Amino acid sequence: MKTIRTQRLLAAPGERMRLSAHDPASTFPFPSEHHAKGMLKKAQRRLFELTEVLYAQDRWSLLLIFQAMDAAGKDSAIKHVMRGLDPKATQVFTFKVPSPEELDHDFMWRALKVLPERGRIGVFNRSYYEEVLVVRVHPELLERQHLPPGRVTRRIWTERYEDICNIERYLGRNGTIIRKFFLHVSKAEQRRRFVERLDDPAKNWKFSLSDVSERARFDDYMRAYEAAIGATSTREAPWYVVPADHKWFTRLAVAQVIIEALESLDLQFPPLDRAKQRELSTARRRLRATAAPRRA
Ligand code: ATP
Ligand code: MG
Repeated sequence: MKTIRTQRLLAAPGERMRLSAHDPASTFPFPSEHHAKGMLKKAQRRLFELTEVLYAQDRWSLLLIFQAMDAAGKDSAIKHVMRGLDPKATQVFTFKVPSPEELDHDFMWRALKVLPERGRIGVFNRSYYEEVLVVRVHPELLERQHLPPGRVTRRIWTERYEDICNIERYLGRNGTIIRKFFLHVSKAEQRRRFVERLDDPAKNWKFSLSDVSERARFDDYMRAYEAAIGATSTREAPWYVVPADHKWFTRLAVAQVIIEALESLDLQFPPLDRAKQRELSTARRRLRATAAPRRA
């Protein structure tokens, strides 16, 4: 059976990143959605099995980071991939414009507070990467960050990439597996989705005028993404550039990457120790003793 070769979507660690080498409309190896029919359901079932063991084993945690331009389909990818997973094992956090309290701390603070516990999957809908994306495109945002004098230099972005890599390495060493997704939508498809939001009353609420002003900076954002992905795609926390012009493909590709990440851990249900085995035998005996007699 055909599957998505996720290696093709990987931003190779240590290599210069060129988004132009990644086609946002790619659905390889599926010619159409019809050819991938049933695959998402199958992937969701597999994800459910894996997360059950992840939770029971209670050793690893998985952090999934989603970054994208507006209307690239972050929300729908997250919703579909997480659908059917045990809610106690998954948590989604959305990062918006920082509050005054958040701005009174270092930029990692709000993310570190909500990292997934062992046995769980944490999903970040946007993340600390905004600090080298939107803030890089709009450096005037740095003025609100209360940084000490002399800390805002031309090296600030390189320093932030380094700090992010260091923290991600630390998390990896402590059992948090990290996978990062850039949902890569083309400018033309983004426009089509914006127009749809304006024309469809049920989608009007999703539209904001700032989406159009940010769209005017599309190319600046692409440059910021290229620089950030190139500098922070590592073996322990790789970036995947996921084609996002076809939502069905995005969901499938993201699910596939997560399945592969969990399978690489060789997860196991925890072994039963002697005491636990005795407890189960006692429970079995007691339940048998209280069983209602069979009717003749
Ligand atoms: P939607 O799909 O609903 O538009 P969204 O993730 O775009 O979802 P919005 O409320 O539209 O949510 O936008 C959140 C905004 O917050 C984004 O423009 C993002 O760039 C901005 N943001 C997030 N983190 C930071 C940050 N650290 N500094 C400045 N802006 C940030
Ligand atoms: Mg938005």
